[in-house]
Amino acid sequence: MPLLNQSTKWLICVSLGVASCFAAPRVFAQEKSVVKMDDAAANLRADRTETYYQYSIWGAFVNRVFEGFLPVEELKQQGDIGLGSFTKLDGEMVMLDGVPYKIDETGKVFVPPNDEKLVYANAAYFDEDQSFQLPAVSNFEMLRGIIGDRLPSRNYFYAFKVTGNFKSMKCGGLSRQEPPFKEGLDVLIPARPVFDRENFKGTMVGFFCPSFIGDINVAGFHFHFISDDKQFGGHVLEFDATDVTVAFDQMDEYKFALPNSEAYEQVSFEKSFQYKQK
Ligand SMILES: [Zn+2]
Repeated sequence: MPLLNQSTKWLICVSLGVASCFAAPRVFAQEKSVVKMDDAAANLRADRTETYYQYSIWGAFVNRVFEGFLPVEELKQQGDIGLGSFTKLDGEMVMLDGVPYKIDETGKVFVPPNDEKLVYANAAYFDEDQSFQLPAVSNFEMLRGIIGDRLPSRNYFYAFKVTGNFKSMKCGGLSRQEPPFKEGLDVLIPARPVFDRENFKGTMVGFFCPSFIGDINVAGFHFHFISDDKQFGGHVLEFDATDVTVAFDQMDEYKFALPNSEAYEQVSFEKSFQYKQK
């Protein structure tokens, strides 16, 4: 936190409240009341185009805080792109053009109801700052390297939309868990269900957090995927693509909301887990 406090460019909003399953929606009710009806959506978007929104803490998610209370409806107020996971690890989430999609443990994709809850989420209003094209990207590490070289600075937050023709795509899913949750993400992620598809089009939605984010969020790149036909998606593991367009949005404000639950109150953050990436 001392690092964060030194920056005058950031707005850090930590939402804390009393323990209640319904406290997460209340956190935002105050903000909504400020915006009047007619131009509410436009104003909200204009106000937040530089804000990275996060629900829960990556380190809590890693340490078995697997029940979350962020409704899909609330997520849609925080951005038009996003990625995350549903409560009890009941599937992966990717949001594109304001529509959240759920990829269940079998790989089936559908649009979840507004009252479905998320346990971990990232969202932003995508306001493109730059884009570039790549004739071919043969793997994920190559893409991360190219994007890393193109970013103006690795000390800001970024959101991405990456479109292309995917010769192959391998995505990870999640298997629904029931309490008491015995294993953390360090065990569950390597054992996750994996989905494959070849020769189709789609969009990777992703985020970049500077390394100083620590265990607050995924450090580095985190991408989820949804196909153009909305039949395939998940957490991006590996791919081979051509005609790739990378668009990114630099953000200098960060806002997060913490879960209100007994599990979150008591989590010890004893385990650490980050995706391996250069
Ligand atoms: Zn993911």
